[in-house]
Amino acid sequence: MRVYIIGAGPGDPGLLTVRGAELIARCPVVLYTGSLVPREVLATARPDARVLDSSSMTLDEIVQVFVEARDADHDVARVHTGDPLIFGSTAEQMRRLVALGIEYEIVPGVSSFTAAAAALGRELTLPELSQTVILTRASGRTAVPSGEELVELAKHRATLALFLSITLMDEVIEALVPSYGEDCPIAVVQKASTPEQVIVTGTLADIRQKVRAARIKSQAMILVGRVLTATEFADSRLYDPTFSHRHRKAKKVAAP
Ligand code: SAH
Repeated sequence: MRVYIIGAGPGDPGLLTVRGAELIARCPVVLYTGSLVPREVLATARPDARVLDSSSMTLDEIVQVFVEARDADHDVARVHTGDPLIFGSTAEQMRRLVALGIEYEIVPGVSSFTAAAAALGRELTLPELSQTVILTRASGRTAVPSGEELVELAKHRATLALFLSITLMDEVIEALVPSYGEDCPIAVVQKASTPEQVIVTGTLADIRQKVRAARIKSQAMILVGRVLTATEFADSRLYDPTFSHRHRKAKKVAAP
């Protein structure tokens, strides 16, 4: 018996991994985070599977499902939104599984931050502009550790992906403006990859108003950085004809 901790992807059932889909189709118990995982992702579950929504459960109640499945020798598909290892609250479940001696295996998924970038049609790292993506959240009801406050992280001026922060737009803008500048591009993507997807783009100066007008209050990714609009970036070394690497020898370029 094993618990499979599976990333369901950002919403589009087509973005569930093949392995995740196979496991959902095979496991007699499917426990999913109903607040964010759409039912379509579970469409392949066995007709006789015990399909349970964990959104109103406590950690103890979730663990109880694992224990009952263990006693019945039933594998469990534990389905989380996006990738299960980013803001997934999966570590506390894994810790309980270890304590119970129940084996688990993790199946990664497509995270909402890449789904949001895909929706925008933009790469998050660009040569000489940003080679770092910071995945974080604004400090709200859940505080962030000291040194990880947004105002501190902003000093790097790296590309930023903010989870769980859409209701804290005022704090976000206030923390970012001193380092990124008011004209820095920012995008909000709600329900990325789903038919209800909404995209709002702007600058740190005008995004608050635009988000308010679009009435976006949940399930939204905030992406920040010059990479969102830049066109004057350098080409990468990877496809540079004068640059050698393991898969290609540099061509001699004749002097003009
Ligand atoms: N593990 C998930 C994140 C869970 S935390 C992942 O890897 O994506 C929940 C937060 O993720 C939401 O508040 C929102 O910021 C973001 N999120 C999840 N699904 C989303 C989607 N389809 N579109 C935009 N943001 C999403």
